[in-house]
Amino acid sequence: MQKLKCQSCGGPIEVENQFVRAVTCIYCGASYVVSGGSDLSPNGKGVKLADYPSRLSIGARGKIQGRDFHVIGRVRYTYDSGFWEEWQIGWDDNTPPAWLEQDEGYWTLYTKMRLRGEVVSFDSIKVGQKATINNLSVFIAEKRTAKLFGTEGQFAMVMPVQGQFGYATGSADGKIVSVNFWQDEIELSQGEEIEPNDIELTT
Ligand SMILES: [Zn+2]
Repeated sequence: MQKLKCQSCGGPIEVENQFVRAVTCIYCGASYVVSGGSDLSPNGKGVKLADYPSRLSIGARGKIQGRDFHVIGRVRYTYDSGFWEEWQIGWDDNTPPAWLEQDEGYWTLYTKMRLRGEVVSFDSIKVGQKATINNLSVFIAEKRTAKLFGTEGQFAMVMPVQGQFGYATGSADGKIVSVNFWQDEIELSQGEEIEPNDIELTT
């Protein structure tokens, strides 16, 4: 593991694995982009999350559907009628991190999909209709704009610290498909709903 120092408070930052692209200092909330070697580039100051109660926390370990994991990051998003949280899950078998979404008691595990085909524009997506996303015909169930409220920990991608983004979720071939329209990147994931008891915590 890479050992670095926060440029703003001097606190230690240990990068969890080679997939990590962004870190937030756990002491002062400064965020950084991790650029190879031992470089941290400041990425502004995000909002440090208050300690909202949840079953999970940074550093928690256990198994999801029998696979060993530990929590490396936490994000809280807000939208017009509420909020939801996503946990960045690091796998002990060292495969790329996943997102575990927690929304009003429902858990969905998202893995990143490779972008191979066209994705329609956010504006042209309509709830209740099909949209072509990455060569899939996705029936759109939800479309909203949201804001990143705060982050904590380490992430396999660099998220915008400020501003709104659009997202849509739907289904294709019986699978959940989610697309985030970040400022200059489209992030596509495939989701699977999991039961609360598919998550076993050991610490
Ligand atoms: Zn710091």
